[in-house]
Amino acid sequence: MIQAIIISAPSGTGKTTILKEIFKLFPNCFSFSISATTRFPREGEINGKDYYFLSLDEFEKKKENDEFLEFEQVYQGLFYGTLKSEIDRINKEKKIAVFDVDVKGGVNIKNKLKDKALSIFIMPPSIPELKERLTKRGSETKESLNKRIERAEMEIDFAKDFDRVIINDNLQKAVEEFSNILKEHLS
Ligand code: ADP
Ligand code: 5GP
Repeated sequence: MIQAIIISAPSGTGKTTILKEIFKLFPNCFSFSISATTRFPREGEINGKDYYFLSLDEFEKKKENDEFLEFEQVYQGLFYGTLKSEIDRINKEKKIAVFDVDVKGGVNIKNKLKDKALSIFIMPPSIPELKERLTKRGSETKESLNKRIERAEMEIDFAKDFDRVIINDNLQKAVEEFSNILKEHLS
């Protein structure tokens, strides 16, 4: 049985929305690895729940102390990283760790955990639809939206490096597909 799920998608694809449904379908099964980031919290985001929001200095110190399993500069000047301490925390809970990371972080973690992890890439139906979702979410400035769209094209090229790819066109279908893949791996 797998010990971890790695899930990556271009920002705005619907990864958070899908995972919320999956957590409801598989209660007490998974626990999110809470990443550290140097970006500012969005409205409603809570430190220590959604992310550990760190200053650049705090992030650098953790890097120097070798506290990260992996980290990436996902956007220019914005760092994100998986803390090794998160794996210990989730192992103690006897749950399957969910790594919600960018494509490069996802590939790095998969290379480290190998068959212990299942990597899933969530694909947007198209770039215009992705732009629409990000705009509707209302979380981005014009500049950060453009950065995310630019990056999405590079990220889609990494889909082939994942164990499975799910296209999030219809939300219900994507959740069902995700759930079926999990059932294959949880028995
Ligand atoms: P991510 O976590 O990948 O950045 P979110 O889960 O925040 O993305 O979703 C981005 C936006 O797209 C949200 O407003 C969400 O409600 C919407 N969304 C998610 N899945 C779909 C879908 N299949 N069709 C239309 N809108 C969707
Ligand atoms: P957001 O700012 O929208 O929350 O996340 C932006 C991107 O950073 C997403 O692609 C997300 O998966 C990625 N990300 C979040 N945490 C980590 C992490 O710990 N490591 C890496 N490499 N990427 C992360």
